[in-house]
Amino acid sequence: MFESLSDGLQGAFKSLSGKGKLTESNMREGLELVKQSLLDADVSYSVIEEFMSHVSERALGKRVLLSLRPHEELVRIVHDELVSLLGPVDTSLHLKKDGPTIIMLCGLQGSGKTTTCGKLAQLLLEENIKPLLVAADLQRPAAIEQLHVIGRQLNVPVYSDSENKNPVQVCKAGVDKANAEDARVVILDTAGRLAIDDELMAELQRIDKRVSPDQVYLVVDGMTGQDAVQSAGAFNEALELDGVVMTKLDGDARGGALLSVKHVTGVPIKFMGTGEHFDALEPFRPDGMASRILQ
Ligand code: GDP
Repeated sequence: MFESLSDGLQGAFKSLSGKGKLTESNMREGLELVKQSLLDADVSYSVIEEFMSHVSERALGKRVLLSLRPHEELVRIVHDELVSLLGPVDTSLHLKKDGPTIIMLCGLQGSGKTTTCGKLAQLLLEENIKPLLVAADLQRPAAIEQLHVIGRQLNVPVYSDSENKNPVQVCKAGVDKANAEDARVVILDTAGRLAIDDELMAELQRIDKRVSPDQVYLVVDGMTGQDAVQSAGAFNEALELDGVVMTKLDGDARGGALLSVKHVTGVPIKFMGTGEHFDALEPFRPDGMASRILQ
């Protein structure tokens, strides 16, 4: 992952490190390479502009240019700026003390919502917390069965009602069942579409309003690059998001989407999906991610 980003940055830093002390024009060259590598990694233009203006301001300061190892200073500045853009850290699910905490997952079809339901359930089971999954994706015929398969694999209860075509009612009935069964967390697997449309958003808004989830997480496919930014913007406008789960970061995904989605939504990146198995969910760590970008 981040190959082009890190290759580009490596090139930038290597070319600077051979130069000993730096002039302002050397440093500007290095900064141009940093900018190009972020562009190559699909980071959106507005994010790059803001990023570069902060980094340039610091990198072109006298203290950096006159320091013994200015290229290392530049690496540190770029790293710090990445960490600050990707943070602050909040990977808590904010579970309530009383009654079940309702977590709603939303996102485009194929982004990894249903898989993430299973991953979150596994995470909760490891903490001895009982989850219940609700099959509220009534658009994709196989989604209900897919969730039941996950429930059986993890030995976690799943609520579904294939006769009911109203997702609000299904979610409410799922929450009632969680109350009756003393489940501490209800995870709503909502419908997605291949592209954003008004009907999908209206359905999600109805669930949001009538079921009042405690946490609303957007699940974003990390392999979709710039498209991820557009869909994240649309979901963010329609719903009050509390966090983002970015999936498929195990492949050759362009990590730039993480920066852009964080910028567009302003909410914390909660988790990263790093595989198809239930244990392939990592709490998001900006510091680790920034280091990986700079490797
Ligand atoms: P949904 O339509 O949003 O519910 O998406 P699914 O959960 O059905 O996931 C779509 C596909 O992506 C499935 O084949 C999943 O196995 C796969 N998938 C989900 N998360 C990840 C991930 O983090 N890494 C990889 N490699 N595949 C994933």
